[in-house]
Amino acid sequence: MTARIIDGKEVAAATLAKAADLVARCKAAGVEPGLAVVLVGDDPASHAYVRMKEQDCAAVGIRSVDFRPPATVEQAKLELLVRECNKDPEIHGILVQMPLPAPLDAEAVIACISPDKDADGFAPENLGRLVRGLPGPRACTPWGVMAMLDHYGIEISGKRAVVIGRSTIVGKPMALMLLERDATVTICHSRTPDLAAVCREADILVAAVGRPKMVTADFVKPGAVVIDVGINREGDGLVGDVDFDAVAPIASWITPVPGGVGPMTRAMLVHNTAVAAARVAGIE
Ligand code: NDP
Repeated sequence: MTARIIDGKEVAAATLAKAADLVARCKAAGVEPGLAVVLVGDDPASHAYVRMKEQDCAAVGIRSVDFRPPATVEQAKLELLVRECNKDPEIHGILVQMPLPAPLDAEAVIACISPDKDADGFAPENLGRLVRGLPGPRACTPWGVMAMLDHYGIEISGKRAVVIGRSTIVGKPMALMLLERDATVTICHSRTPDLAAVCREADILVAAVGRPKMVTADFVKPGAVVIDVGINREGDGLVGDVDFDAVAPIASWITPVPGGVGPMTRAMLVHNTAVAAARVAGIE
């Protein structure tokens, strides 16, 4: 068996096309969707990510409103900026690019974002809504994974899913989203004994660890769907958490890195912003 490719660029393009349609309907209803983009400091990787996110917004007609505080910005000032964005009727989504430079408290900043304008889906209330099965903006990366599975008609209900990683932005919400769709879910982490054996039980295996090529062929049941969230810099390129060349001959479906989950994370940010604006426009 050679795995079919889950093409993140293709699914992201479809997601952005739907968002563009929603944005056009917002504008027809008198609401111009706007995303506040808060980028603190000079980290080159963060600047590159933000540039791509703003390009995606521009492509669908969402206006970006830039805020660029220096790395030395005081916590209270940053929180005030977020609160002002909460009140601004022309802003429908707020993105605070992570990670924040030390010693800024990211959790406290995220907690200031209005749940209705939470473009990243990180706000505590929205994680709570996910746990409770209520609608609301979802965390972009795992929500993007769900969109990819659905795009290719990959069955989730009744499947065994294993998620490696338990972060608040990827692993935990990923597990909850799979659970919400009736998968039987196991979450693994750095203290999980015999990780490969647990992973071999998976029909759907999601790796969100941050260790290059950690998932080797012996982690994968023949025919499994393998989703690689990891982004690791190696030399001047990017590699995932999955050893693609070793796993692709065994899996039924697999995401590449780059070109897999990454474009979906950005697309879901646009989706969340468009949906938030549509709610304000009264059309969603
Ligand atoms: P975190 O560092 O927050 O979490 C990593 C998780 O992996 C932790 O739960 C950790 O366990 C677990 N882990 C670490 N080592 C092992 C091990 N040897 N065996 C099993 N589990 C292990 O990372 P994130 O969730 O933020 O990101 C994960 C990866 O996804 C990174 O490569 C990141 O760059 C990438 N990423 C990609 C995105 C995209 O758009 N494609 C978006 C966001 C992240 P423990 O809790 O026990 O420490």
